[in-house]
Parts: sequence; structure tokens; C-alpha cells
Amino acid sequence: MKISVIGCGYLGAVHAACMAKLGHEVVGVDVDDRKIASLTRGEAPFFEPGLPEILDEAMASGRLKFTTDLSEVAGAAVHFVCVGTPQKKGEFAADLTYVDAAFSSLAAHLAPGDVVVGKSTVPVGTAEGLASDLEPTGATLVWNPEFLREGFAVKDTLHPDRVVYGIPESDAGQRAAALLDEVYAAPLAEGTPRIVTDYATAQLVKVAANSFLATKISFINAMAELCEATGADVTALADAIGHDARIGRRFLNAGLGFGGGCLPKDIRAFMARAGELGVDQALSFLREVDAINLRRRVRMVDLAREECGGSIVNRRVAVLGAAFKPNSDDIRDSPALNVAEQMHLQGAIVTVTDPEAITNAKERAPHLHYADTLEAAVEGAELVLLLTEWEQYVSLDPQYLATFVAEKRMLDGRNVLDPGHWREAGWTYRALGRH
Ligand code: NAD
Repeated sequence: MKISVIGCGYLGAVHAACMAKLGHEVVGVDVDDRKIASLTRGEAPFFEPGLPEILDEAMASGRLKFTTDLSEVAGAAVHFVCVGTPQKKGEFAADLTYVDAAFSSLAAHLAPGDVVVGKSTVPVGTAEGLASDLEPTGATLVWNPEFLREGFAVKDTLHPDRVVYGIPESDAGQRAAALLDEVYAAPLAEGTPRIVTDYATAQLVKVAANSFLATKISFINAMAELCEATGADVTALADAIGHDARIGRRFLNAGLGFGGGCLPKDIRAFMARAGELGVDQALSFLREVDAINLRRRVRMVDLAREECGGSIVNRRVAVLGAAFKPNSDDIRDSPALNVAEQMHLQGAIVTVTDPEAITNAKERAPHLHYADTLEAAVEGAELVLLLTEWEQYVSLDPQYLATFVAEKRMLDGRNVLDPGHWREAGWTYRALGRH
């Protein structure tokens, strides 16, 4: 089937390449000509494991092309809209400028019977408005939220946990769902659960899922605060409560908290939308979820100050990690970079390293020092902070690291190191929610 993908960022580029891998003829469109030039060369414009390989394969097959010319979507039966929905500046609400622009320019290239598939994360109620805007074109809108995780995006797209279709109650809605079933024939044949519902539910599923995940992380981080006040150990606590199958151990890792281009802005946009709907009380707990999350970043800086005897001014600090999570170069709302910036503002001499995210980090925080290698970053450091749990940092050898630093002080912002192991090697080890 010929399909188009509008918006080729983290979501769209992976989606386009994966759809070509599934055998479809795909045209990916973006307004960013640098991104399109890179994709056209078969180069992923960001770091995502597995993407270069499927991009190569899809480009070689001739089934995938990228363009900035939206008119090339004409003739496609299904159009996926994957543009960004960032947080509005100075507000909690989502900025829908890109979604509105993408839909209104797409309308001119649609034919009756086409299916437009919204994948961007939007406030509930958005799809209903977009569907009525599309009516004159004769195209049908399906809301099909995306649940991929950066770092696992290719696997999550090819083998999703579930697919959700929000469709209108009409024959056109049923036909649109059937067409989308053809697009997703391969994952559906694997038994992927498929939930067909109305627009409102489909939009809510996405933000409800992200709110739940954010809540689970902030819950354990709130427990970490209690552990800090009582001398208890949050990792043992998480292990113990996680054995209860109703709770589960996943997403119960206490530490520096969540970040990235989704969870923080999605829970804020959800709160803003609840306010508009007159049900803000229903989501007032998310305010606390957000606050707990942000407090962890402040606590991390406080720990650093305590470790340095009360002041970090002119202290040489090495920060391991800039990406918001490992296996990604995404620094949007990155807790690691936020802590690095706070420490810089408070007078520390901060050197950041990251296996993939330095280029992006330099663009956002050019005032920090950067090192391309771990060794260069920790050379002469009086304090080391592990803030993104890349595998190479998790498996660090304390003896090896000790040969570079000026002071053997480790702050583990992700609770991934073995405290005993580090202490035996002569390090002071501190972490969030552990003593
Ligand atoms: P992104 O910023 O990486 O990509 C958005 C892309 O859209 C950019 O390349 C931008 O140039 C392009 N764009 C903007 N306006 C356009 C237009 N009019 N026509 C064509 N292209 C246009 O964002 P992302 O992380 O890919 O997220 C996209 C959406 O998917 C968001 O709503 C996000 O919440 C949602 N989402 C993201 C993820 C994720 O892990 N990144 C997961 C699930 C859902």
C-alpha cells in the first residue's frame, strides 16, 4: 500500500522506515530540509538503535523516500501525521500549531476515501475538531496514538504491545479501520491486541498511559524521600513491593526521575486540558507527580553540595550522561542536563559526557564543558555524577575510574551501581533514597 508519513522526527522517521520494512511504499515528508537531506542519504538524523539498518534496507528496496514537497503524498491511501506537540512556552498546554498546520496543508492533497491517521499526542477533543475540518475532503480520520519508547522505537513499532484506533461511528469509520488493519497486517497477525474505540477514548489512552507511568516513577521517588528521612533503602523497598504482581517491579526505579519529549509535557498538557473541561480536580495528583519529579533534580544538586563540604563553587564535577535516558540522543527536558546546568549556575566547573547526546546538549547548553570520552570527562574531577544509566556507565570499574579522578566521590543518580563494590574500592558512594 502507498502511505505517507508527515513529520519525520523521532516518531515519524522510525514509523516511515518500519512501514517500508513491512512492505509498504512510503513517502516521508518534513518541513526540515536538513532532516530530509540526511534521511534521503539513508542516515538517521538522530540516534536510535536499529534505525540505520532498517533505513538502509528500506532505501535500498526503493520503497522509501523522503521529501519536503507535500504534494508527493498524493496517491497515498493512508497518511500518518507524526508532527510534534511540544509544551507551549510559559504554559502547561500543548502547542498544536504544528498539528493544525500539517492537517490544513495536507487537506489540499487528499482524495475522497483517503485515511488520515493521527499519531501525535494531542489533548482530548483535538481529533474531533480535525475530523470535521477534513470533512470537505472526503477523507476519514483515525486516531491511532503511538506508544513507542525511544531506545526501543524500531522494535516497538514493528511489534507493538497494542494498537488503538479511534474512529467515527460510521461506515467510513469501519472502512478506515479495515484499511489500517491492512497497514498493520504483520503485527496484527502476531496477535497484537487491537482496541477499536471512539476518538475521545483513543486520545485519552495515550495520556492516561503516560500519566500512569509518570505516577509510578514519582511514587517510588516519593518513597525515596521517605527513605532519605529514615535511613531506609529505596531499592530494597522497590524490590519488596515489586514482588506483588499487582504492583510489579518495572518503572519502580528510584532516581533522578523522568524527562524527555513526552512524559513531562504530556502530563502538563493533560492537566491543562482537564482544567478546560472543568475537571481539573480529577488530575490534581499529577501536579504532585510533576513536583516530586522536579524535586529529585534539586535533591541531586543538594547531595553534590553536601558531598563537597557545603559548596560546589569552583569544584570540578564530571557528569556522566546528558540524554534523558540511555540509548537515545534526546535531551528534551533531560534530568541529567538540568542537573548539570543547575550545578554550573551554582558555580561548579561542570564537564558533561555522553555516548550519543553531546551534539544536542552543546546546542542547548553551550556554556557547559563537554568531553568526548568518559576518561577525559572525569580527569581531575572532585565529584562524579552518574545521571543517565548508559550500560557503559552502569558497568564502570571503580578501580579504573579512580586512576583519573582527583577525589573518589560518586553520586549515583540512577541507583544502578553496587554501593558495596564502590565503597570497597575506596569511593564515597551516595545515591537518592539510599544511605
Ligand atoms: P520531533 O520533534 O522529533 O518530530 C516532529 C517533526 O515534525 C519534526 O521533524 C518537524 O520538523 C516536523 N514537522 C513540524 N511541522 C510539520 C509540518 N507542517 N509538516 C511536516 N513536518 C512537520 O517529535 P517526536 O518526538 O517525533 O514526536 C512527535 C509526536 O509524537 C508528538 O506529539 C509526541 O508527543 C508523539 N510521540 C512521541 C514519542 C517519542 O518517543 N518521541 C512517542 C510517542 C508519541
